[in-house]
Amino acid sequence: MQTIRISRPNLPQPPKFTSVTDERLHRKQRLAAALRLFSRNGFDQDAAGQITARDPEYPEYFWVNPQGMRFSTIRVSDLILVNHKGEVIEGDRSVNEAAFAIHSQVHTARPDVVAAAHAHSTYGKSWSNLGRLLDPLTQDACSFYQDHTLFNDYTGVVLKLEEGKRIAQTLGNNKAAIVRNHGLLTVGHSVDEAAWWFITMERTCQAQMLAEAAGKPELIKPECANLARTQVGSNYMGWFSFQPLYEMIARQQPDLLE
Ligand SMILES: [Zn+2]
Repeated sequence: MQTIRISRPNLPQPPKFTSVTDERLHRKQRLAAALRLFSRNGFDQDAAGQITARDPEYPEYFWVNPQGMRFSTIRVSDLILVNHKGEVIEGDRSVNEAAFAIHSQVHTARPDVVAAAHAHSTYGKSWSNLGRLLDPLTQDACSFYQDHTLFNDYTGVVLKLEEGKRIAQTLGNNKAAIVRNHGLLTVGHSVDEAAWWFITMERTCQAQMLAEAAGKPELIKPECANLARTQVGSNYMGWFSFQPLYEMIARQQPDLLE
């Protein structure tokens, strides 16, 4: 029998850098693009929400969108650099207090994490009210199978570092947390990955609510959910899934790179 070989072009790989200057610029470009994409998806609400990216040279510092600026107008030059004390090192705008309280503690607790994303997106915050983890109902949902947690203790706006620390502890080594009565939090080994997990987690919340509204959902078997997590929920797939979105938004809104 004749064997038919299907040739697959090489898949793209995350870039490697020899200079921190280049790596910093890359992270900032991805951060600005992710914020524009969050806006396009309707994840921004008033002044809430932020994405942070660890600085490659000063790992205890992170880049973040400034307080009170719409995600839809963010440019690379608008991003601010914040140190471990919450002081703005670069940029002339201020940092959101809650953003610092949560993200500084996540970055401290997870040295493997480059970026963290949080927003008050509609389906994520609606789901967060229920106090439940997401079920493996779809292939996409399996990205979060046994890889997300629930922070089940809402006490008001997170302004204290202690509260951010408790959220970071609850996150543990997972890629995401549902922060009850508040919204979703995702992390990644690149900005790309953190942003993609957020986008697909928001849709997963939407899909589960639709399924439960329409009938009685059937869960994917644990062994299949575990396998699917290794397939669609890997660090690489998180990065890979973001690439077409980056290319689209950078082409459509090139001013984000300014
Ligand atoms: Zn929030």
